[in-house]
Amino acid sequence: MLPFVKKEDVLPVCPHCKKEINSVWFRELKGDLGKRCLYFCPHCRACLGVSHRKGLTFGW
Ligand SMILES: [Zn+2]
Repeated sequence: MLPFVKKEDVLPVCPHCKKEINSVWFRELKGDLGKRCLYFCPHCRACLGVSHRKGLTFGW
């Protein structure tokens, strides 16, 4: 298990456009499995992850 290190002074970088992300856009998805949120980059609109019931998972 890797330790979690809190870093609030460093902005994450979008893996697609390499721009710093200071906010994350999301939209709700409603389907058979319930409501989920799709998170995406405000710069290039690349998908960053989808929330599941157990939390946010990055990648598909
Ligand atoms: Zn991006």
